[in-house]
Parts: sequence; C-alpha cells; structure tokens
Amino acid sequence: MPHALLFTGIDGVGKRTAAVRLAMAVNCVGYRVLKQPGGLSGKSNERPCGQCGPCSRIEEGTHPDIAVVLPDGGVIKIAQIRHLCHILSMKPFEGDMRIAILVDAHLMNPSAGNALLKMLEEPPEQTLLILTAGQSSDLLPTIVSRCQHIRFNPIARTSLSEALIQYHGFGMDEASTVAALAGGSFSRALAMKHSAWMSRRDWLIAELGRLDSSPLHVVLALSEKLSKNRETLSDVFEIMFCWFRDLLIVTRDPAKVMNLDRLDLVRQVSGRYTTNELIHSVNAIKTARAHVEAKTNVRLSMDHLLLLIRRQL
Ligand SMILES: [Zn+2]
Repeated sequence: MPHALLFTGIDGVGKRTAAVRLAMAVNCVGYRVLKQPGGLSGKSNERPCGQCGPCSRIEEGTHPDIAVVLPDGGVIKIAQIRHLCHILSMKPFEGDMRIAILVDAHLMNPSAGNALLKMLEEPPEQTLLILTAGQSSDLLPTIVSRCQHIRFNPIARTSLSEALIQYHGFGMDEASTVAALAGGSFSRALAMKHSAWMSRRDWLIAELGRLDSSPLHVVLALSEKLSKNRETLSDVFEIMFCWFRDLLIVTRDPAKVMNLDRLDLVRQVSGRYTTNELIHSVNAIKTARAHVEAKTNVRLSMDHLLLLIRRQL
C-alpha cells in the first residue's frame, strides 16, 4: 500500500465511496457469509465484509481511525490540515492502519496545500492518505507527484442505467434517459430524479427553439429570468451545452446523443443549423459558463450568450 493515493474524476463517479470501501477493506476483521443452495452457508474471504465491527463503524462514520476532511464553506483551510496532522501524529486507536480522506482536495487554499505537502514529505506511520479531486491539474504538482494517481472514468451509460433500475426504482425508459443525460455521474443522475431538472430542460429547449424569431426585448427578458435564479444557473448552462452538443453530433454519432428521449426533435432541429453555427454556439456557452464561474456579471454574460446564439434570420 502506498502512503498516499489520489483519486480523480468528475463528481459522482464514486471516488469518495471507493475511498471509504478501501478503508473498510483494510480494517475489516470479518468475512462474508455466503448463502448456498440447500441451506448450507460458506465463508468468503472477500473484503470488506460490510458486517463486522470495523466495517460498520467506518460506514457509519464513527471509526476512530478514519478521518474525513471536508471543505468548509468551499475551502479546505490550514487549520483543518493542522488538526489532521495532530490526529495522525498519534498511534491508531484500534486498527493497524489509519486512513485520512481529503474530499475535494483541490479546494485546499495555498497554505493548506503547503501544510499537506509537508505531511506527504514525511508521511505519518501506519497511515494511508486518500485525496479526491476533479483532475490532477487542480492540485500542486508537488502534491500529485507524491501520490499514486488513480483515474475514475465516467460511469458507462448501461452500467449507470442498470444501477438506477436495480437500486433506485427507476423505470426502464426513465433510467436510460437519465443515464444518457447524467454524463456518467451517479450523483447527478439521482439529483435529476429528485429535482425539476427534466421539466426545466424541456422548458429551456422550447425557449431556445424560439430564440431566432423572438424580438430583442423577449430575448433580454429570458436572459433576466435565467440570470436571476443563481441556484439553477449551472443546470441552465449544462442543459444548453448538452442541447447544442447533441445538435452538433447527431448527424455523425447518434448513439452519443445525451437527450436520448428527444432524439427525433434533436434530428429535426439540427437540420436547421449549419455546423459552424453549432460549433459557434457550443463555444459561446462554454465561454459564458467560464465567465459566470469566475464571478463576472451574470446578467451581462447571459445577455451576451443569448445574442450570440440567436441568429438573425
Ligand atoms: Zn468487515
């Protein structure tokens, strides 16, 4: 086992879950009971068992040798890393191996990053440090070079769809639609079921369809409406991006369309645009999203975006 692991991948692919499962596997003292036909039962050496004391406590978050560091208000601060150093300077309470999980390690501020670097240079004994992040380039290269890096790919559509049906009560059609739209993220797929995401998408697609023929004041009113609700802005950009991306790729690779339940509409609308117009729109959406994430004036960015997408026919 290395001293430090770095799990990277988009949100909702199971980085943190894998870290917790690994912590369980390392500390597990039980075995899995296998039910066999005829009432016999056997033992499996598969770890973690999920049933022994350490497994249960780790799953509940009450195991004394597992430390989880979460961002506090969008940042991991130096005090949190110092506190972790203090905990790791002591011997493990019960297990052989202590695990420290730093969730969204890219949110460490520079001083926290430097404090962590010091820890990685002289790793505490009997300790495994697991960092999760979107991508390794979001972290200091000196931190990345001291970790064994494991990349988590987005979850394949079919696997995602099967899991949604089996464990979360999705119907077949709903599961395949959501799996296509979730972009390989399990948490995103679940969030879509429980939010107004799908109806928001249908509404926004219809609004985008009317954009070319709308007078300027209607376009600006739409911009105002979209800009006002900050909580749904990231969904709005995601919906727009997926939609124009689908319009662009449907003629080349229809199997990759994300709005799978609207495939006929995607085909129909795609024919009204030239490839250049679609590329232009996709790029405009990416730029506007980056501007908004960089905390520029949301309303101005949205006005600009809608006017760029709208064609003067
Ligand atoms: Zn166990």
